[in-house]
Formats: sequence, structure tokens, C-alpha cells
Amino acid sequence: MKFAQVLVDVPTMQTNKPYTYKIPDALANDLRLGIRVIVPFGRGKRKVQGFIVGFTDHVEYAGKMKAIDSIIDLTPVVNDELLSLSKWLAQTTFAFRISCVLTMLPSVMRAKSTKILKTNGQPLPDALVDLFGDHSELEYDEARFNSDQLAAIIKAVQNGELVVDYVVKNQARVKQVLKISATQSPNELQTVLAGVPKNAVAQQKLLNWLIENPTAEVAQPNLVNQLGIPIATVNTAAQRGWLKKQKVAVLRDPSKQPVARNYPLALNGDQQTAVDQIATSITNSNDDVYLLEGVTGSGKTEVYLQAIQKALVAGKTALMLVPEIALTPQMVNRVKGRFGNLVAMLHSGLSIGEKYDEWRRINSGQAQVVVGARSAVFAPLENIGVIIMDEEHDSSYKQEDTPRYSTREVAKWRGKYNHCPVVLGSATPSLESRARAGKGVYKLLMMPHRINNQSLPAVKVVDMRNVIVNDGQTDFSKPLLDAIQDRLNKHEQTVLMLNRRGYSSFLMCRECGFVLKCPNCDISLTMHLKGRKMQCHYCGFEQPIPNECPNCHGHQLRSFGTGTEKVEQALNRLLPSARVIRMDVDTTKRKGAHEKLLARFGSGQADILLGTQMIAKGLDFPNVTLVGVLNADTSLELPDFRANEKTFQLLTQVSGRAGRAEKKGEVYIQTYNPDNKAIQFAKDQDYEAFYRWEMRMRHLANYPPYFFTVRVTASANYENQSASVIYEVDRFLRQHLTNRNIILGPTPAAISKINNKYYYQLIIKYKHEPNLQSALESILDQYQAATRHGVYISIDSEPVSFM
Ligand code: ADP
Ligand code: ZN
Repeated sequence: MKFAQVLVDVPTMQTNKPYTYKIPDALANDLRLGIRVIVPFGRGKRKVQGFIVGFTDHVEYAGKMKAIDSIIDLTPVVNDELLSLSKWLAQTTFAFRISCVLTMLPSVMRAKSTKILKTNGQPLPDALVDLFGDHSELEYDEARFNSDQLAAIIKAVQNGELVVDYVVKNQARVKQVLKISATQSPNELQTVLAGVPKNAVAQQKLLNWLIENPTAEVAQPNLVNQLGIPIATVNTAAQRGWLKKQKVAVLRDPSKQPVARNYPLALNGDQQTAVDQIATSITNSNDDVYLLEGVTGSGKTEVYLQAIQKALVAGKTALMLVPEIALTPQMVNRVKGRFGNLVAMLHSGLSIGEKYDEWRRINSGQAQVVVGARSAVFAPLENIGVIIMDEEHDSSYKQEDTPRYSTREVAKWRGKYNHCPVVLGSATPSLESRARAGKGVYKLLMMPHRINNQSLPAVKVVDMRNVIVNDGQTDFSKPLLDAIQDRLNKHEQTVLMLNRRGYSSFLMCRECGFVLKCPNCDISLTMHLKGRKMQCHYCGFEQPIPNECPNCHGHQLRSFGTGTEKVEQALNRLLPSARVIRMDVDTTKRKGAHEKLLARFGSGQADILLGTQMIAKGLDFPNVTLVGVLNADTSLELPDFRANEKTFQLLTQVSGRAGRAEKKGEVYIQTYNPDNKAIQFAKDQDYEAFYRWEMRMRHLANYPPYFFTVRVTASANYENQSASVIYEVDRFLRQHLTNRNIILGPTPAAISKINNKYYYQLIIKYKHEPNLQSALESILDQYQAATRHGVYISIDSEPVSFM
């Protein structure tokens, strides 16, 4: 082959077309599909990173062709499967293929290219002497130079006193450790030992260790610690030739605590049926998709684990996806405890170095079971035997940035490619998945009972309108408060959910009605007692809590809308003896904080776990017998046709935390909308009834799963810009599409301004629209150049949020 097709990584000039480069003779034997290379790009000496995606013998192009500069990888970092997946992903998510490829890889493999200024021996102009100091090279960093320096640099480059060079930095670093090993035989070292002075204790210790461990290789810090000797002794020993130091590549190990080993449980009937069916698909290499609909506590995890076991026994690998791993440490520990070193974890809680190393363990075949959140769906596993997606309805499975992929769709694509089953599990499946199971597209596996036939918790709905009338403004109704007190007396535990962090959600002036808003976003600022600040939950803007109204200078500022901070304060006042752990974004910023707080709760060091929706998932604590939802209405108010579905899912999920072991569970849901259907069905914990009712609503309103949806959003720095662009898009679509669709909008987005950008959107609803793909692709291409003027078009196929 004479030419290679390279997908270049140039953010401002994205295209789906690979560029063709000549292959220099020197590299002819080293190039492979899926490795990274460095290539010249554009005018000047600019160098960029690219991926080899094809080879060819002849090209149409008649001009002078550039050659590949050098290679970064010796072995492919994108295997054949992921290369073709990236093509499909680009097409279905309306993203450029390069961003699809980059999404699949650990972030350290994203190259950083920088400009370097080099002197060429001539004296530098005065303005630059201090800047360069003794160095002959300097990284070009505009932000660091003052205007005089910048002008001098430009002039020096024009005069040839400075040369600009481009380098691509490979940020992926393999961790290395200094290892120590003996270089002389025990006999020789004995002779050395005999000659060492009596008072040189450290040397004697070291020599004795080398004599006793002639073949060992041990990390220097470990040896120094173990023997209690100074590093200087090791250095002297190395100089005298008793031992050698060697840098050895090691893998970072993200599992900090050892995990207790666990063993397969004897399955109950429903579990056995599920495992058997999945196992049949694994052995027969069938790409069936299963929907495992099992109530909370029905033992879905054990089904997953035994299905993974079947894949391993068949000599295959397994991929298990969970919503957000930091929130489900219990689940991850069960997988690690079952499969030990075969497991690799991929999630946002890892450092970038740890992620890179876990990824390498998978890419090299050392790890055969991968557990991870959304992006783990791209784990470079080969020969996959089963793909599992726990809590398949969870919205974190949709990526909200380009490429806006659905993890479920990617999982299904990989299932087809690998000829393996995909298991979607949930107590509250998405309507889309349940409807497909209803039509027989997916195979439905039901587990309607809890393990050991433990009953589901009894759910009571508390009408807060009456509570306010009788008891005044409060966040705790008497029945809920009494129930918590009762659990305190019985030394049982309570989980309380309020899906709103901070102290209160907005600050309003009672004299003029002014609400304090974010200057960058169209949203009110949230009050936080910690740090005494008003904070924007969208862009992070902060300011001190004002003493007077910025509008009328009145002093009657009042806060509204209770958040978790305020509830924590109220609990301390109402139930002073209760030990409370608060879990929300503010208390879990530090790495590993989730796990620590949950471990404290699990070991009985607290009576109440209070948190946002992050406590609704996956917790399995036998001593929790009470769940309280302080305000079920937060998710009902969302401007989204899925508001009911999301509310039902959240309430069912959190209710499922109660009464999972011998003791019976009880749930209180406080709401101002006690008659709302989602709340009523959640009270009965009847997913199937909710499903039938909600399907009727969707049918009447022409919403998914009866229709497909695509959202097109325009954003720009000026409101009239984004508005005019979205109207242009609207006109274009109406011209190019058939009349078999419904376009909603254009309208400003629900939050029309975020971080000083204005958002306008339209939504296309369709069942079958033959021209859609080509129309959207051409919109994407048309507006690619506009990004340079700060106008962005984003296309989101099957959005999960309409905010
Ligand atoms: P789910 O994921 O469906 O909510 P889990 O998988 O967490 O439920 O199971 C609930 C509890 O039941 C767990 O503590 C689990 O260890 C236990 N369990 C699951 N399957 C069995 C079984 N076959 N025999 C005994 N206990 C089981
Ligand atoms: Zn803001």
C-alpha cells in the first residue's frame, strides 16, 4: 500500500472524510489500522494527531501529497470493531467521526499540539532576552506574553531570528517504578558482608536481604520501608555494584481497598429462568436483547453475575454498564468480589492515569470483565459474550455532549457485532424498552417478587396541602417525623430524599418581588449556607448573600424552596439525637467521598441518610426500614413530556431502598399533587399499570415511543443570532422534509440562556421520514463554518431531556 487514510484531529475543521497521506518507506512496516500518527496539516509546519482508518493504492488527487511524519502507537488503539462503530456513531448521532473516535479513548490519548519557538543562534532582540533566559526553546503561550513581547516575537519570526516548530504531545504516560534486585550471587555478597564495619547496621540489613532474596525484584520505596534504612544506603550499594536499580512499567491499581470474595448464590426460580435463557443466547451466539424487568430487591444483580460467569466459561468476555459508578460502589464490589483480577473498572472517579491503565488492561486482554458507566460501552473488549446494562432507564446513559449517543443503542450495536445477548435490567424500564418487549423485539424476563418473597414496602402519600393548613410552613409532616422517631427508638435506619441541593432554591424581595438571578444564565441563584454564597447551578457563578434587595434596597429578602442543607439543619433541630449524613454534590466533590459516606451509613454510624436523587440508586442496606420523600413534586414540574415517567421511576427506585432484608419497609411520599397519576402508581408500586396508562398519554400526544424525536438547537452569543439561525434551519427542514412529520417550534429553550449563550430549539417528531438523515447531515455541514463566529448547531437524536 502506498497511501494511508488518516482521520485528523483538528477541532475547528472537522469533517467525516479522512485525508490521504503518503507512506514513507521507513514506516512501511509499522503502520496498522487504528494506530495514531502525526501528520502535517494545512499550511506552514503545523502538525496534528490522526488515526489511520484505511489504506489505498491509488488516489484521484493530482497535487503534491504530504507524507505521514511519525507514528505514536505500535499497536492499534482503535480495533476493527470500534473503527466501524465510529462510522455508525457519526452517522446516527450527527457528530463528526473524529469526535466519535476520541470519545472511545481515555482522555490522555487526545493529543495536545503546541507551537514551540526556537532560537537559531542569533542574538535575541532585547524584549525577548528575559523571556527566553538560558533556554533556546519556549512553548508558545499567548496568555503568558505581554503585548511588547508578542510584537517582538512576531517580528523575530519574520526576521528569521526565531523559528516556529510544531509538536504533538503524547500525554499518555506509563507509570514506572524503580525496582531493586541483587546483581551478585549470595556467596559473593556473603564475602562483602564480612568486610562491612560492625556499626554499618543499614548496610548489613540490606546485604542480608539481598542474600536471602537473590531473585527478588522489589520497588525501592517498599524495600526502604520494610528494612527501615535510608535511601542513601541503597544508592551506595548500587554504586558498589551489589544491586541494580531498574525502571519497570507498572499498572496503576484503582481499587484502594481489598474487596471481600463472594460466591454464586443458589438461584430462585425466576432468577434461574432468566440466567438459563441468557446462557442459551450466549452459547448459541445469538444477539437477542433481553429486558429483565424485576422489582427492587428481586435479585437482578445475581442474574447479571451468573450471566457473566456463563460468558467467561464459554471463553468470552463481558461488559457490564451501571449508571454512575460512584453512586453504586456496592454493586461494583459485588462484581469485583466475584471475579477478582479479571475485572477492570472504567468511570469518572478514576484519575486519568488510572483510567488509562485500566483501559490498557482491557486492550491487552488482561481484563475480561469490564464494569463501568456510560463511556465504558466503548471498552476495547474483544469476543464479548454478554453485555449488561443495569438500570437501563437511567438518563445518565445518554451523553449530552457530542457525540450525543445513547449507551443502549451502542450496546445493541456491539451485541450484533459480537453475536452476543444484551441484557437491559430495571425495576422501571423506559417506556421505549418496555414497548419493544411488548412487541417481541426484546425478550421479556420478569421477576415480580422480592428475594425470599419479602413484600415490597408499604407506601403512604402525605398531602402537604393539609399539613400546611394545619401545622403551618414545614418540610416535615407529622406522620413522617413520627416514623423517623420510631426508627431512632428501634435503632433502624432512614433514607430521606430531597432532589434539591443547597439551602434554598431562590431569594426573593418581599417588597418589590425581585428574584436574584445569575448574570450569565436565565436561572435564579441558589442559596448555600456553607460559604454563605448565592450560586448558579448551571455555570457555577457565585456571589455573597446580599443584605438588601439590589433592586429596591429593601430589607425583606426571603428565601424560598427548601434544599438539602436546610433540611439537615431542620433535622438537627427537630431530632437532636439523630446522626445525619448528607449526600449531595456539595458533600461528595472529593474523590472517594461517596464511598466513604455510604460505608459510614452501612456500618451503622448514622441514623439518617439525607440526599438528592444520588441516594435513590443501588443501595442495599438491610437496616433501612424507612424511606421519606420530602417533596415528590420537584421532578413533576419539569417542562418535559417525560416528567411523569421520571417521577415514577425516581419514587419507585428510592422506595425500593426500604425493607430489603427481614424487616419490613415503609415509605412516606410528601407531595402537593397527591392525585397525580405517577405518584398514585408509585404508591401501588405497579410499573405495569403505570406503563399502560402512560402509553395512552403518549399515544394521544404523539410522543415517543409512538414517535421518534430529534431536537435541533442553535446557540450563539446574541439572542437574535440564535433565533435567526433556528428559523433558517426551520425553513430548510420544511423545504426538504416530506409532510409526514411534525415540527414543534422554533422556541427559546426552557432555560434560554446558559453561560452567556442563548439557546433556541425545534423538535421534529416523526414515524418514518425518508429525507431526515440527509437534511440533518447537510445542516451539520452548512453550519460547521459558523462555529468560528460563535454560532453552534447541535442535533440530538432521541434526546432524553428537553430543557
Ligand atoms: P435488585 O438489584 O433486583 O434490586 P439485588 O440484586 O440487590 O436486587 O438483590 C437484593 C438482595 O437479595 C441482595 O442482598 C442479594 O444479595 C440478595 N439475593 C439475591 N439473589 C439471592 C438468592 N438467590 N438467594 C439469596 N439471596 C439473594
Ligand atoms: Zn449561571
